[in-house]
Amino acid sequence: MKKSLTAYVNGTFLPLDDASIHIEDRGFQFADGVYEVIACFGGNFLDLKLHLQRLESSCQAIRIPLPCSLQELESLVQQAYEKNPFINAMAYIQVTRGIAPRSHHVSESMTPSLIITVRDLPMPSDEKLAEGASAITLKDFRWGRCDIKSIALLASVMGKQEAAANDVDETFWLDCEGHLLEGCSTNLFALINGVLTTHSLGHHILGGIMRKMVIRVAGKAAIRVEERPWKLSETGLTECMMSSTTNAVLPVCRIDGEPVGEGKPGPVAKQLRALIINELEALRSS
Ligand code: PLP
Repeated sequence: MKKSLTAYVNGTFLPLDDASIHIEDRGFQFADGVYEVIACFGGNFLDLKLHLQRLESSCQAIRIPLPCSLQELESLVQQAYEKNPFINAMAYIQVTRGIAPRSHHVSESMTPSLIITVRDLPMPSDEKLAEGASAITLKDFRWGRCDIKSIALLASVMGKQEAAANDVDETFWLDCEGHLLEGCSTNLFALINGVLTTHSLGHHILGGIMRKMVIRVAGKAAIRVEERPWKLSETGLTECMMSSTTNAVLPVCRIDGEPVGEGKPGPVAKQLRALIINELEALRSS
């Protein structure tokens, strides 16, 4: 029999199907909130502390007090994992400013809402890994604080719709000079003259936790890394890859209908993916 799923809503664990939030929650009416998605392998979360620190930074940036301490949050996420039936899972945490009669005005007295859900961790298919992913590019029409992990994701949803309409996996955002920033739900890397290149951190991209891991693993493998704006037209560009909690690192072999490099997963993307998967497997069996 399929085990039912459990969610956490403002102090209570309950069956997912019974979990609800007030219609005057500001997350629902203003997208006034932030979130995290964290991968868990056999009960061990990947970089949980980094995710919770990013959640704290996102809350601080929009002046929402964290609804509980980071230790309490860590324990709640762990409990949420244990109450759900998945071995490899992704936990979703959402914090909103809370419930109040609809008004743009922010009152200091609001109590933030906290929800946690847990789902199976999706994995890229063998076919996707063998062929590599594909993408289109679009001029960035998101807001100016993409470093905040905001639940206001309409532009990302539209980007994913456009990707689906073009039968590709992701849309990569371009700044007004044509530099590649990141995807709708991924960070992006290129191998240019043997240097792993990714847009520098700032307000235009999210500081991905997997991006950080890719940079760390590349350093250990003696692959040079440069964080700077870059373009697809640069000479010496042989590979692209995207990173996220749910994809680890995935080669991207077609962009805007053109092959990247040889149009198949390149050696550096494959090496980085193998190194990261090894670490994830070690986490699962630890
Ligand atoms: N960039 C954006 C815009 C995202 O939404 C995400 C994840 O949702 C990422 C990058 C990847 O971040 P992480 O590696 O922390 O999953």
